[in-house]
Amino acid sequence: MSARIAGVIGWPVGHSLSPRIHGYWLRSLKIDAAYAALPAPPEDFSRAIEGLRRAGFAGLNVTLPHKHAAFAIAETLDDAARATGAVNLLLFRHGRVEGRNTDVEGLRASLVEEFGADIVNGAIAVVLGAGGAARAAAVALDRLGAKEIRFANRNPGRARTLAADLQPHLKAALVAIPWTEGTSAIEDAVLLVNATSAGMQGGPALDVSLETLPSGAAVYDVVYTPLETGLVRRAKARGLRAATGLGMLLNQAAPSFAAFYGVAPSITPELRHALAQALSP
Ligand code: NDP
Repeated sequence: MSARIAGVIGWPVGHSLSPRIHGYWLRSLKIDAAYAALPAPPEDFSRAIEGLRRAGFAGLNVTLPHKHAAFAIAETLDDAARATGAVNLLLFRHGRVEGRNTDVEGLRASLVEEFGADIVNGAIAVVLGAGGAARAAAVALDRLGAKEIRFANRNPGRARTLAADLQPHLKAALVAIPWTEGTSAIEDAVLLVNATSAGMQGGPALDVSLETLPSGAAVYDVVYTPLETGLVRRAKARGLRAATGLGMLLNQAAPSFAAFYGVAPSITPELRHALAQALSP
């Protein structure tokens, strides 16, 4: 078999950690293959996909701002992609373009690793945000058995749209709440997930108080730059369990790698350490 090639397509894409993650696995598993970072502006996306497919790529990870365009291009979809309306993995197989969403599994697996499989089972979770990451969080929390998921977003209309779009796909009750009611909405929650981009390095901080979260609750921040976000620092200072989104990133990459190269990789402490170093100032 000739060497396989895959990559990540985005705009911009230079900051992506995916080449580092997949490169680590290719080297450690001694697989003769490549993984490239592929910048493509939105207006070139569909032509780029067609060109890469014809050039013999096994598939592509898809990052901002293309996850919805990838959903539209895909000829088949898995359940997670169908529910979220977003595709972060395109596979070119059997003459077809397959669309999958591994962000859902990435977050589900990371929550289990960090807080245990029962973290939201039969309980209430609050998600901040209403973009792609929030949609992935809705499906992941539903798969973990959440009874109710409350969404608070700066732009309240987007939270209402998210709840209406996803409710037919999920068992959990989805409730849109005003951003200003976030403090009271977390009083009876077991988990708070930040799925906004607030708190990212160089951007505005996340303006949310944790004072009303119950003492047994946990906090998960999908943001992973910086390695320890302000939200996670504040949660730990209150004695709460808290984690950033590096585990989500690694756990969405693993099924992508298996689909591209046919081998399930391991998320080793050495890999986590290498990424933590790459993210350290
Ligand atoms: P989107 O652009 O789809 O959504 C961004 C969200 O953040 C919106 O809900 C937006 O609210 C909100 N937001 C932005 N700035 C602020 C602010 N200052 N205060 C409050 N809310 C704000 O992005 P994604 O959902 O795709 O990504 C969100 C974050 O998740 C990013 O940081 C991304 O890197 C991260 N992510 C991490 C992954 C991982 O593997 N760990 C995977 C995917 C994403 P509004 O609608 O009001 O604009």
